Amino acid sequence: MNNNKPEKIKTDKSKKDLRLGVMGGVFDPIHIGHLFTAEEARTKFNLCKVIFVPCLQPTHKRNDQITNIKHRLKMTYLATQGNPYFEVSEIEVHRPGPSYTIDTIKEFRKIHGWQTDIFFITGADAFLEIDTWYKRDELLTLCQFVAATRPGYDLNKLHDNFKKVLKIMEIPALAISSTDIRYRVKNNLSIKYIVLEEIREYIYKHKLYI
Ligand code: NAP
Repeated sequence: MNNNKPEKIKTDKSKKDLRLGVMGGVFDPIHIGHLFTAEEARTKFNLCKVIFVPCLQPTHKRNDQITNIKHRLKMTYLATQGNPYFEVSEIEVHRPGPSYTIDTIKEFRKIHGWQTDIFFITGADAFLEIDTWYKRDELLTLCQFVAATRPGYDLNKLHDNFKKVLKIMEIPALAISSTDIRYRVKNNLSIKYIVLEEIREYIYKHKLYI
């Protein structure tokens, strides 16, 4: 084991009132906007840890539009290893078929029980289609939701009913997007400082997004 790595914080399952962050996304690639979002949610909502859950098969994207999960997963591990409060779960990686959030939250509920408050964190735009999410009504009873937005984001885009239950966090670093990073790599533009150095090296080493 690399002694330079910070020790991961172990969840004490016997402790009541745990607050757990579950950070869902495609992470193609993971960038500092994602990392800052997770850290901000952790401190703002007093979470004991944030578990990053790379999605195998997003329900609204074709598989040939996204990078192989092997790379997205590896980059997620690399990007999160420096924060002792961050973990990665392969829960969706090993579950064949579309990655429905409800299946993921139910698995976390099985592990952590009802004494744990679960906060599902993701980008606000992903919640725009919440009405179409699989078993939406049941999902809404299982966890709390945190939407990360960039400054100036039009909150009216979010459904009124859902806005009532949503916790909204403004994250300036979300001006960065995975789409822009892929565009930059393809067009020989720099991605230094918008992804961690390990991720930048990984992208070039594996010739991703060219
Ligand atoms: P997306 O539509 O690709 O992303 C929407 C926006 O949110 C993008 O601007 C994206 O920026 C940003 N974003 C995505 N994940 C983020 C995160 N963790 N933190 C901050 N910003 C984030 O959405 P997606 O990534 O496919 O889906 C997001 C999550 O919602 C996934 O866990 C997915 O499984 C879940 N979801 C579930 C269902 C369902 O159960 N039926 C349906 C839709 C989505 P970047 O491109 O820079 O990440």
